[in-house]
Amino acid sequence: MANSKQIEELKEILIERKETITKNIQGSRDSIDSLKESECKDEYDYAEVSSDSFKEGIIANQQIKELNEIEDALKRIEKGTYGICEMCDESIAIGRLRAKPFAKFCTPCREIYEVEQ
Ligand SMILES: [Zn+2]
Repeated sequence: MANSKQIEELKEILIERKETITKNIQGSRDSIDSLKESECKDEYDYAEVSSDSFKEGIIANQQIKELNEIEDALKRIEKGTYGICEMCDESIAIGRLRAKPFAKFCTPCREIYEVEQ
């Protein structure tokens, strides 16, 4: 079980990560917008531009997903339920929280969850 000092450390990591992602999302939105605004001179350019914005779109989606998970984790810290597995109510190992601070499930439950997905 993570103690309050460890939770405090993880909270800082989560907040930092949240800020980085927020900036990244903002940055990629800006570059997608500027791509849309820029005129395409020929078909080759157009293909380049659309595949880039497609990739950026995927990255942005993944980051939005992670951002939601981080916000969830921060809410759980507030409620005092952070570090407890949502499936089995057991504490999540501190090593796992350090590797993935927004983890919702303990390692065995995560494996079950992944198989079910
Ligand atoms: Zn569990």
